[in-house]
Amino acid sequence: MAVKLDEKLEPIYQEVLLRNPGETEFHQAVHEVLETLGPVLVKYPEFADKKVIQRICEPERQIIFRVPWQDDKGEIHINRAFRVEFNSALGPYKGGMRFHPSVYLGIVKFLGFEQIFKNALTGMPIGGGKGGSDFDPKGRSESEIMRFCQSLMTELYRHLGEYTDVPAGDIGVSGREIGFMFGQYKRITNRYESGVLTGKGLGWGGSLVRTEATGYGTVFFVHEMLKARGDSLDGKTMVVSGSGNVAIYAMEKAAEYGAKVIACSDSGGVVIDEQGIDIELVKRLKEVERCRISAYVDARPKARYIKQGNIWSIPCHVALPCATQNELNGKDAKTLVENGCIAVAEGANMPTTPEGIQIFQAAGIAYGPGKAANAGGVGTSALEMQQNASRDSWSFEHTEQRLEQIMISIHRNCYETAEEFGAPGNYVMGANITGFIRVARAMDALGLI
Ligand code: GLU
Repeated sequence: MAVKLDEKLEPIYQEVLLRNPGETEFHQAVHEVLETLGPVLVKYPEFADKKVIQRICEPERQIIFRVPWQDDKGEIHINRAFRVEFNSALGPYKGGMRFHPSVYLGIVKFLGFEQIFKNALTGMPIGGGKGGSDFDPKGRSESEIMRFCQSLMTELYRHLGEYTDVPAGDIGVSGREIGFMFGQYKRITNRYESGVLTGKGLGWGGSLVRTEATGYGTVFFVHEMLKARGDSLDGKTMVVSGSGNVAIYAMEKAAEYGAKVIACSDSGGVVIDEQGIDIELVKRLKEVERCRISAYVDARPKARYIKQGNIWSIPCHVALPCATQNELNGKDAKTLVENGCIAVAEGANMPTTPEGIQIFQAAGIAYGPGKAANAGGVGTSALEMQQNASRDSWSFEHTEQRLEQIMISIHRNCYETAEEFGAPGNYVMGANITGFIRVARAMDALGLI
C-alpha cells in the first residue's frame, strides 16, 4: 500500500497484520483509517499513551458458529456464520448481516471496523458490529432461505438484544430475511422485542424510509459536496454501480435532484440507457421478480446490456459505487477522471481501492468515502430503534427530514474537521478523524475498556 504511515502508527499496523493473518480486507480498512490519524495523535497525545487505537483495532467479541440447514430436496448443508461485536463505547453493537459466498472473518471484520466510525459519524447512540454468513442465497427458494435464517438465529439470538447487539441487513439480507430472523428470535425468547433488529417490515415495527435510506443518504451527501463547491446535481450525468437496495434508491433521489442516471449494473453486466434509467423497471426486476439486470433491455429496447462490462468506462459527471468492496480500482479511477468525472460518493462499503482513492484525491475531485456517504442507512436504523423504544411511528416526510439532517451534519463535520487538520476538501480525513475522536473520547471516559 502506497501511503506511508506515521512512525507511531506503523507498529500498530504491523501488529494488526500479525494478529489477523490473511484478513486482507480488514488490513486494508485499518490501514485507510491509520493513514489519517497521525495529526490526531499530535493534537491528542493521550490517545497514544492510553493505546486507544490498539484497543479499537481489536474487536470486543467475535462469534463464529455453524449453521446447518436442509434444502428443499432434503439435502443437508453446513454454512459458517459470524458476528463481530467490535465496539460498544457509544451504544449497542449495530450493523448489518451479509449473506454472500465471499463472506469470511476478514470481510466481517473490515465491515465491523468501518461501522464503528460510520456509526459514530451519524451522531446517534450506536456502537459498531457486523455479521454474515458464506451462505449463497442465489437460486434458493423462499423456504430454503427461511430455514437458513431460522437455523442461524437459533444460535445468534443469545448474543443479541435491543441494549446489546442490533443487526440489520446488508448484501443478501433485506426485509424478507429480517422477518424470518425476527420471527425466530421472538419464538425462542418469547419477547416481542422490536428494537433487536432493524430493517423490519412496515406492518411489524419497521420505519418508513429505512429501505430508501442508504441510497437517499448517499445522494444527500453528494449534493452537499457539490454545494460546497458552488455546484449542483442538476443536469449532471451519473452512473451507479449495482442494482440492489442502495443503487435503486440512489438513482431515485438523484433523478429528483435533476441528475440523469445513464447506467447501473449487477455482477453479470452493465445496462446503459442514454434516455435515463427507468427506475420503476429496475425496482420491478430486482425487488419483485428478483431476476438479473440483463432483463432490463427486453423492456427497453433502446438500452444496451454489456455482459461483464466495466461501468466505470462510461463517461459521467458523477459516479456512485453502490455494489461491493474493491469494485473500483486505480485504473477505473483514472478513466473516470479523464472522462470528466467531478464527484464520487460511495454507497457501498470500501468500494474504491487505495490506489483509486489516491487518484481521486490527486485529481482534486469531490470524493465522499463510504463511512460518511453511506451512513444514512444505519442512521435511519437508529431512527427505527428510536421509534421502537417509544412505540411510535413517524411519517415518511418527518423521517426523511431527519435522515437529511443527519447527512447534512455528517458532511459539515467532515468538511470542518478536514479544514481543522489542514486538509481542506479531504473527506477521508474528515470522516475518519471525526468518527475516531468521538469513539476515543467515549472509550476514555468509560475507563479501561
Ligand atoms: N449494512 C448497512 C451498513 O453498511 C446498514 C447497517 C444497519 O442498518 O445497521 O451500514
